[in-house]
Amino acid sequence: MRPNGRGGERRPLTRGPRYDPLMPLYICPNCKQRSVALDGAEGFSDEPVACHSCGFGFLFELMEDYYPGPNTGLVTCDREGRVLAVGRGVYELSGFEETDLIGRDVREGLALKAESDQDPVALSLEWGVRRLGEAMTMRARSGSEKAIVCDLFPAYDDDGGLLVALSPSNES
Ligand SMILES: [Zn+2]
Repeated sequence: MRPNGRGGERRPLTRGPRYDPLMPLYICPNCKQRSVALDGAEGFSDEPVACHSCGFGFLFELMEDYYPGPNTGLVTCDREGRVLAVGRGVYELSGFEETDLIGRDVREGLALKAESDQDPVALSLEWGVRRLGEAMTMRARSGSEKAIVCDLFPAYDDDGGLLVALSPSNES
């Protein structure tokens, strides 16, 4: 993943033709709109695919379908876990604006801690596997600690990266 989409240079998530016979699934890192097919245009264009619903500059490819909850907020990170984009719902959940978090390590910015002593963000980045239903805590801007559930999705493009879905733990 690269920062793109908001004022910066727009880059596609995947470069060159794709011959993946599977139907690619995408989710908008901003508004969580899922899309299964994108007008058949991928692979034939270097234009990034913007969200049809909110116009956000890029979509995140998922290997398996995922249905975020109504109060889930998405944070897109690079391969080091630094925040590239903060989607709708994160402010409601954390009190942080995008400008508070951009460029910071998501674990540090939100003080994410797993209930186990593991670091699910590092594990997902290192192994390139998704991790669902991680019970974690985060510190909201107000300073209060909140129980949340994290779903982590590694990016499959060459740049790597991670999509972090944060949900209030009472919703899981
Ligand atoms: Zn969108």
